[in-house]
Amino acid sequence: MPLPSTDTVVLYPAADAESLRAGAVVLHVQPYGDGREVVLLDRTPAHPVDRAWPDQGPDRGSILVDERELPLADVIVAATDGTGLFIGDDVPVRRGTDGWAFVVAHVLETPSRIAVGDEVVVSIDARHRRALSVGHTLCHLASLALNAALADRWSKPVREDALARPDFDHEAIQSSTIVPNGSVDVFRLNKSLRRKGFATDGLEEALPALADITAAALGTWVATDAAVHIERDGDRLGDPRYWLCELPETSARIACGGTHVARLGELGSVSVQLGLDDDAGTPMLTMRCAADPA
Ligand SMILES: [Zn+2]
Repeated sequence: MPLPSTDTVVLYPAADAESLRAGAVVLHVQPYGDGREVVLLDRTPAHPVDRAWPDQGPDRGSILVDERELPLADVIVAATDGTGLFIGDDVPVRRGTDGWAFVVAHVLETPSRIAVGDEVVVSIDARHRRALSVGHTLCHLASLALNAALADRWSKPVREDALARPDFDHEAIQSSTIVPNGSVDVFRLNKSLRRKGFATDGLEEALPALADITAAALGTWVATDAAVHIERDGDRLGDPRYWLCELPETSARIACGGTHVARLGELGSVSVQLGLDDDAGTPMLTMRCAADPA
């Protein structure tokens, strides 16, 4: 079974019915440890987790073939150079590397009897997808709101965010996790960040006020019900994609491979919690955001 030489066509960024359910042709099937199996398709609505930046987890859903419904145990970004399939943490190259195809690996719990050339349907759990889309849009919006809340703590110029404020999120982000209807971001306030001009003095005492300011900015934006789009340079997994939001200030654009709601009003009421911890002497700021969609 030859491995694909082009990236999987991904349907989840589009705001249409095929972003949740679509027909596809099987390109490759192989075992994947513990009796599991990996299936590669020419196209898919299933959003995979990217182990290189695992902010948004895999979709839930199933592959339908004939009368059978095969649940997806996982959906993971994989890469192939034609000689082997490298899945998740084993992907040895960056997207866009010459000679490599980036593909969506559909993991099935048990051998499927699916064969190359079979026509299947991929069906995604719409409720779970929507909860992740809400969480992901909130995550981007919250990074902009937090950048604004912390803007006066910078004493030197640094990279600016989509709203022309010092990009604290970019400079300090350690991990970003999308959860259903929410997000958890962890920021590392290390020496190099402080050398770049970020002041951490009095931060702990300021956290409740900063959380209020961040939440208020989010509330204002959500109330505008601004439109959200995903812009993309092509329809394949490795093609760059961007989150675009028409905020009153300006149109914000952030590189992003995830899924999103179509309008900010879908987030409903939004809450923000900030906490400060210590990681072997380095202060770590955690921001937890939650939406309450209708
Ligand atoms: Zn994103």
